[in-house]
Amino acid sequence: MLSNDLIKNMKDYAKANNVPIMTEGGMHYLLKYIKKNKIKNILEVGTAIGYSAIMMCGVSEDIKVTTIERDEKRYLEAIKNIKKTGLEDRIHLIYNDALNVRLDDKYDLIFIDAAKAQNRKFFERFEHNLIDGGTIITDNMNFHGLVDEEVEASISRNLRQLVRKIREYRVYLEENPKYDTEFLDTGDGMAISVKK
Ligand code: SAM
Repeated sequence: MLSNDLIKNMKDYAKANNVPIMTEGGMHYLLKYIKKNKIKNILEVGTAIGYSAIMMCGVSEDIKVTTIERDEKRYLEAIKNIKKTGLEDRIHLIYNDALNVRLDDKYDLIFIDAAKAQNRKFFERFEHNLIDGGTIITDNMNFHGLVDEEVEASISRNLRQLVRKIREYRVYLEENPKYDTEFLDTGDGMAISVKK
């Protein structure tokens, strides 16, 4: 059962253990999008502790989520949380690096929320799993405001490289003729790419 206590416990755990989970704003938009577009089959790259997968299932009883996580501790925590909600038959958890996973099923939404520098690789790895007219949503497109040019000069070299990667991914989406992509400032910045 999806109780407020469980949701609060997941958020508290994430905060205490520095696990990045979706912002309230990003989550609100994502759940609204799923409801409005009657989305039923979702692939998520980046489970963390299962918070977003569980929340997405909460939209409607016929939603199924396949979700991939490579970090063992987070994967085990996600298993625990999913058990507590009784959603084991609707959430398929894969413990692996997403870049080693190959899937045959089709999804009407692919949600990319993993290593930001690898967004394009995730996109290209799983786009064949998207139905025509389906959507790929990528989170963290603004990366806490760092993708803003004015702050770039003040950040470290590694961070600058990451910011550059996110910008390159943005251009890749803008110029991808197979998708119509809209960029939102919601949450930490989201790209909504609808397959034509
Ligand atoms: N979607 C989650 C939520 O809102 O509850 C948060 C996911 S967190 C931002 C990103 C997660 O992606 C991390 O737990 C990280 O270990 C995982 N991750 C990063 N790169 C990955 C990869 N290549 N394959 C699988 N998981 C990956």
